[in-house]
Amino acid sequence: MEGDLPADSADVIVDVVGRPGPFTYAVDPEAEVGLGDEVVVPFGARRVSGWVVARPARAREHPSATSLRSVLRRVRPGPPPEVIEAVLAAAMWAVASPVTLLRAARRPKVRGAPVLEPARGQLAERLVDPSEVTPEVFLVPLAVSAPEEVGRLMAAGAFGERVVIAAPTGAIAAHTADALARVGVRAARFPDDWDQLACGRTTVSIGGRRGALAPLATPDAVVVLDPIHPNARDESSPYLEALDLAGVRASVSRSRLVVVSAVPPADILARARVRVPTRAPRPWPVVRTFGAADLDRGIEGVVADGLAVARRRRADPRALVVVPARGPGHAPVCRACGATLTCAACGGRLVVLPARRGVPERGWCRTCEALRPLRCGVCGSPAVRVSRWSVEHVAARLEPVVRQPIAKGPDPRAGVVVGTIEALESAGSVDLVVLVEPERLFGSHGRLAEELGLYWIHRAVALVASNRGEVDLVVEHAPAWLPEVLAERDARRALRAIRDERAALGLDPDHGTAVVSGPEAAAFVHALSEVSVPGFEVAELAPDRWLLTAPTRRELRVVLGSVPRTLDARAVRVELDPREL
Ligand SMILES: [Zn+2]
Ligand SMILES: [Zn+2]
Repeated sequence: MEGDLPADSADVIVDVVGRPGPFTYAVDPEAEVGLGDEVVVPFGARRVSGWVVARPARAREHPSATSLRSVLRRVRPGPPPEVIEAVLAAAMWAVASPVTLLRAARRPKVRGAPVLEPARGQLAERLVDPSEVTPEVFLVPLAVSAPEEVGRLMAAGAFGERVVIAAPTGAIAAHTADALARVGVRAARFPDDWDQLACGRTTVSIGGRRGALAPLATPDAVVVLDPIHPNARDESSPYLEALDLAGVRASVSRSRLVVVSAVPPADILARARVRVPTRAPRPWPVVRTFGAADLDRGIEGVVADGLAVARRRRADPRALVVVPARGPGHAPVCRACGATLTCAACGGRLVVLPARRGVPERGWCRTCEALRPLRCGVCGSPAVRVSRWSVEHVAARLEPVVRQPIAKGPDPRAGVVVGTIEALESAGSVDLVVLVEPERLFGSHGRLAEELGLYWIHRAVALVASNRGEVDLVVEHAPAWLPEVLAERDARRALRAIRDERAALGLDPDHGTAVVSGPEAAAFVHALSEVSVPGFEVAELAPDRWLLTAPTRRELRVVLGSVPRTLDARAVRVELDPREL
């Protein structure tokens, strides 16, 4: 930068995802502009908002090459400097623009003057490695929900006084707030109750997957609920799992990192201090498993049986059937010979249209867009079942058997609900849960499909346990670990078995892959290739496009974080775990 800095200055990250800066601005010495505050600054011909990340400036660049311009005004007070520091460290770790995280950490728009003293000073700029923080795992009994267990643990003082909690969904966050209220702990919601947290009126915060960014200063513990949940592992931009963000926050704030889950990720379990609950677990519900051979009478038989049993305990039991897909049934299979049915005319894939008013189930060819009979092309048998269950298909099968209205999708008041995983997430009091192919409930090819299957089983068991209800698992090919989990009522051995099996197949879930591209990528990749990390490799895919691999994601991030890089996404673009090369 040319010229001297003015008497008072600030570095500002602007709310422009692809070109966030930081940029240096002059500040009126009388202005109450503090570290972390949200301000408005001139940016080219525009005015944009931004966040103060150094006060005074550390002399970097400014957006107009000709002259230093001034911060125009303060918009809102910022979170404590440790949150800003965590955001910047997390963005460095995730190799992403900090803007989306700064937006997530900001105070919601409220009327009234700022109540906080502006902070001055500098933030540490360092690569925080969240995997260097040793987590504590509080193992939740399979028949207890994570929110309930958090309530019990908070009441017992297990996490300390000042606690930041991140839950994977809004529903789980709400259940956690309720569970805490039942044990007399008042918790503020993040970001809604931002001011309460920032002013220290409440010392417990509950937020979503970005909940670790709550403006509660110096927490004793950062607690992550169910980090295996797909929402907590949202791998969109920035590439940052809830647990990574919590690890960064815990490292920056020097607090404990705590995981509360019945199904903690296997790699966390391997390096965590694990605490097992000492009290007697609550009564275990009836859990039955149905394999392919049991399904000849159809899924309707399973549900009807379960409802009949539930009616002995309650006149109007509630049942929830959770299936992997919406719409009609997919992939019809011959019950006699096991062949997959295809279109007789074109060989294309068939979907199964439900039976209606005396018309039996029929096939529909997606290619010809024509109706086809459901009859095996190999052996001629008309006995057909689907291998991909769906809401419409299962609801149509159930209707004649259960003789009551069936809701398709979440409906807390309906007697019988058939839905996808959403219905399980939003279910209230339920007596019977039928989980169809739990490993496929969230996509079929996910890296963590087996762990997730186990997680949904836990959710179903915890849901019915308080009603002394029943869980029926419909699994065509039951995983080897399932009987053991149900016998031991503990997920740990299964999680280890899943991890070992994956390692034996050479499918290391931790393998790190990234694609670097863009007009300025060459210099960045050249600098990276000087970094000495065993197993780190660079391959050129195309001009201006490189594939980087490392034995683990952690090592890859250490490599990426070790070379300074412009955050301008137009110049260098880094995709971690790219979906395609
Ligand atoms: Zn066809
Ligand atoms: Zn056949």
